[in-house]
Amino acid sequence: MDVFKCIVCDGSFHEVDLIVSEKMFGLSGVFKYKKCLKCNTLQLTNPPNSLERFYPDTYYSLTEKVTNRNKISNWLRFQRDTFELGRFSLSGAVATILVPNLSFRYFRSMTNISRASRILDVGCGSGQFLYNLKAHGFKSLTGIDPYMLDRKTTEVTGGLNLWAKELHQINETYNLLIFNHVFEHLPNPNKTLLDAKKCIPIGGYILIRVPLSDSFAYAKYSENWVQLDAPRHYVLYTRRALIDLFSKHGFLCLKQDDDSSDFQFWGSILYQANEKLSPYISNKTAVLNYFGRIRLLYFKMLSRLLNIFGRGDQGIFLFQRIA
Ligand SMILES: [Zn+2]
Repeated sequence: MDVFKCIVCDGSFHEVDLIVSEKMFGLSGVFKYKKCLKCNTLQLTNPPNSLERFYPDTYYSLTEKVTNRNKISNWLRFQRDTFELGRFSLSGAVATILVPNLSFRYFRSMTNISRASRILDVGCGSGQFLYNLKAHGFKSLTGIDPYMLDRKTTEVTGGLNLWAKELHQINETYNLLIFNHVFEHLPNPNKTLLDAKKCIPIGGYILIRVPLSDSFAYAKYSENWVQLDAPRHYVLYTRRALIDLFSKHGFLCLKQDDDSSDFQFWGSILYQANEKLSPYISNKTAVLNYFGRIRLLYFKMLSRLLNIFGRGDQGIFLFQRIA
């Protein structure tokens, strides 16, 4: 019998397998997750040899573009993000209450970061987050993603570069590294953090957003929890496991919040009903037609409550390198 070691802490696994299928596109394959007895993370124990077919060109993070939204929505987002970065406006304050953006708010806690700081977004997809930062005056932005659509380097004018690269291929140093729903996709988190340390001097930051398995949604939906996302997600961390892992590599957790959304409910319920996620994921109208406005509002309110009580199914963490 194969003996698996936890790729986060070297612990051993609980015997019970969680059997999960690929549900975003309905691709073939049966995937097994186990829970580490020591750090409680969930881990994929039979990853496919190649992940290429699980990241088709229609994968949402590769195609997302701000131009897909209407002008009022873009204006409100801009006002909100300006507010989150620290400049007060009434419209920004209202937009923040309706749809907060913690990724931008966390910049206020990075005392060493200015508009001139060097920022690297690891697994940047279409580069949307960097385009948003560029619109707010950040001048030195780089994004890397091995699955970038044209699979080649893109030079974008105005201090923004997008490269089809992986972290271990990066030789430059940065003041801030971003892993925006990327870290859970990586098969060797210890190696990733060693690579990250080569790019970050002492005092530099890592901003990370990940799904969290010590959540209400995982407890409720189990193998149908939408954020298992087999086999793209290798590791589903708990809050404690993630903080301990970073601490082992010399990173101090400065700040943490839950930022789960109604997606944890509507996505998991679609999986329970054996629906593919892909027709719904970037199509608000399809989600609205399936669930109705009242039910979606209920999901939103419940998500806010779960975030307040630390039981949301995803979180944002700010780490600073101290050693
Ligand atoms: Zn472990």
